[in-house]
Amino acid sequence: MYVNTVTYQNFRNIENAELTFSPGVNIVWGDNAQGKTNALEGIYCFACGKSFRGVRDKELLRFGSTYGMAELHFTDAKREQCLGLQLSSEKTRGMRRNGVPIRRSSDFVGVFHAVLFCPEHLSMIKGAPQLRRSFLDTAICQLKPQYLAALSDYARILKQRNAVLKDASRSVSARMPLYEVLTEQLAALNTRIVLTRMKYIRLLSQSVNEFLSDMTGGREHVTLSYVSDAAPEAHGGSVGAGAEEIQKAFYELCCSYAAREFAAETTLHGCHRDDMAILLNEREARLYASQGQDRSIVLAMKLGEGELSRTATGEYPVFLFDDVLSELDTMRGQYLMQRLGGRQVILTSCNPSLFAGMDVHMIRCTEGAYTNVQT
Ligand code: ATP
Ligand code: MG
Repeated sequence: MYVNTVTYQNFRNIENAELTFSPGVNIVWGDNAQGKTNALEGIYCFACGKSFRGVRDKELLRFGSTYGMAELHFTDAKREQCLGLQLSSEKTRGMRRNGVPIRRSSDFVGVFHAVLFCPEHLSMIKGAPQLRRSFLDTAICQLKPQYLAALSDYARILKQRNAVLKDASRSVSARMPLYEVLTEQLAALNTRIVLTRMKYIRLLSQSVNEFLSDMTGGREHVTLSYVSDAAPEAHGGSVGAGAEEIQKAFYELCCSYAAREFAAETTLHGCHRDDMAILLNEREARLYASQGQDRSIVLAMKLGEGELSRTATGEYPVFLFDDVLSELDTMRGQYLMQRLGGRQVILTSCNPSLFAGMDVHMIRCTEGAYTNVQT
C-alpha cells in the first residue's frame, strides 16, 4: 500500500498544498516549525481516524479558519482509493471514502493502514501503561474496525458507571441495581477487548523477538504479554483463556471490589487499566533495560506492527517516521532503513545530509509549502 498524494487546505499551518510521494522512501525535510510533523499528522488521521497528538479536530484547523480539509489518494493491492476529511469549526467533521459520505469512524478507519513512529514512542518502555495501551489500540483498530466500536462502547459504559459510583445524592443500595447492569455490560465489552489484545500480543511478541534478535546478533530476546487483573493468563492461569473465563474473572473481581469502588468513586478494574509487560532477556525491560535497549525494542515493535498488518491485510502498511533517525544511533538507524526495503516510508527530518547518496524522494518543507527536490 502506498500514498500517491495528500492535499491540505487550512490544515494546521498549511493553507493550501499538495504533496506527491514515491512508493519508496520519501524524506520531508526543512527547518524546525515549518510543517513537517503537520504533514504526517494529516496522513495518520486517515489511518486511525484522529490526530496522534491527542487533539480535537478544532485544533487541526488553521488559525482563524472556519473550514479545512485533507484528502488522501493511495493505492492498495486492488485499486486506487481516496479518503477525505472535512473539518469545520461549527459542525462535526465530514468523512468520505471514494466520494461517498461515511458516518461512523469505524467505517473510515481500517481502509488505509499506516505505522507511525515518533520520538514520544521511545518512552513507551518505561512510560505509563497508557502509552502501551494506546500503541496496542491504534494498531488493532486499523486491523479490526469492530474493535474501535468496542473501545468506544466501553468508554461510554465506563463513564456511566463512574457517574453512578460518584453520585453521592443516592445511597449505595439505591444505586446497586444500575451498578450491576453496567457491570454486566462492562464485563462483556471488557472480555472482547482483552481477548483481542491478548491475541494481538501473542503474535506481536513473536515478530518483535525476531526483529530484536536479528538487530542484536542474537544477544537479546524479548517477550510481550498482557497484564490484566481480569485475565487468568496474566496470573499464571490457563494460557489462552476463553471468553467465559475472562468474563467470570472480571465479574468476580467487580463483586469483591464493589465496596472499594463505591468508596473510590471510580471503576478500579478493566481494560482501561491493563498493561503490556515487556521482558528483555527474561527481566522486566521497564526496570532494567538501558536507553539503547529501550530504543531497540521500540524499533522492533514498530517493525513487528508492520508485519502483523501485512499478515492481516496481505500488504505492508505505509511507515510514517517523524524525526526518529535523529534519535537513533547509526547502527539502529541503518538497521531500520535496511529492513524497510519494498515498503513506502515517509520520514521527516531537519537534516537532509543523513540521506546523501541514498535512493530517496526529497520534499522540501518551508512554512507549510512543499516542493519536490530533484536529487
Ligand atoms: P520540528 O522540526 O520542530 O518538529 P515541524 O516542521 O515538524 O518542526 P510542525 O509541528 O509541523 O513543525 O508545526 C509547524 C508550525 O505549525 C508550528 O509553528 C506550529 O505552531 C504551527 N501550527 C500548529 N497548529 C497550527 C494551527 N492550527 N494553525 C496554524 N499553525 C499551526
Ligand atoms: Mg516535527
